[in-house]
Amino acid sequence: MTITVLGSAAAEAWPALFCTCAACAEARRRGGRNLRRRTAYRIDRDTLIDFGPDIHWQSHAFGIDLTAIRRILITHSHTDHLDTVELQWRRNGFSRIGEPIELFGNAHVFERIARETRLTLDQLAIVGHLLEPGRDVVTGPYTVTPLRAQHASPDESALNFVLHDGRTGALIGNDTGWWAEETWQQAAGRRLDAAIIECTYLHKDAQHRQGHLGAEAAVAFRDRLVDIEAIRPEARVVVNHFSHNGMTLHEELCDWFAPHGIEVAYDGMTLEL
Ligand SMILES: [Zn+2]
Ligand SMILES: [Zn+2]
Ligand SMILES: [Zn+2]
Repeated sequence: MTITVLGSAAAEAWPALFCTCAACAEARRRGGRNLRRRTAYRIDRDTLIDFGPDIHWQSHAFGIDLTAIRRILITHSHTDHLDTVELQWRRNGFSRIGEPIELFGNAHVFERIARETRLTLDQLAIVGHLLEPGRDVVTGPYTVTPLRAQHASPDESALNFVLHDGRTGALIGNDTGWWAEETWQQAAGRRLDAAIIECTYLHKDAQHRQGHLGAEAAVAFRDRLVDIEAIRPEARVVVNHFSHNGMTLHEELCDWFAPHGIEVAYDGMTLEL
């Protein structure tokens, strides 16, 4: 399995579009890996996880042929993870669509698409699949286990995903918060090869666990994954989904996480499992 990180920022991107904070000013000055698009991933050639407002920029920056994408898994309905405006260009008359696309998400995802596009899934050439926490689905080469995140609740069941292709497996964990016990149990014993863990608040609130994680909480999250054998001891662990309000720039983040054996995501990072 090959995972490409298409974006590594939380909702406002980094630098945030209109922000005058020191972390955004410094990201503009340094550039490079400090320029972070909204979080999304490509899995192998034909699968996306999340479809946010930077998808057009991401597709060009990382050589993604969106006409080759066969399925999109959406973690939850927040606007940084689902951009219905970009999705509606699949509509007949705006684009000449080849194959329908399979779209997986919770009820809030499908409600937002219907309400904001005012189109049916058929009109968007989308085949919809409703996901429920703990209920596996098989799509293409992947068995996907949606796990209930501790995020956006109680309004919505935001999801994290375990993907397994029969050979290797990975956890895509954002937006996460500190899981409920039921979710830890569903992840236990899977011995995955990689985990991507969110770290929205960085060092601004390092112990934060409610809805999102801070830096210390992300390390504790990794430790718990190892303890319950959700991941192998030698699994690659990557933190991602960073808010500029967390303030720590990429280079300093790498220095802080390196002793913990955790890698810091950047746009374009690739994990070959
Ligand atoms: Zn988010
Ligand atoms: Zn800022
Ligand atoms: Zn969110």
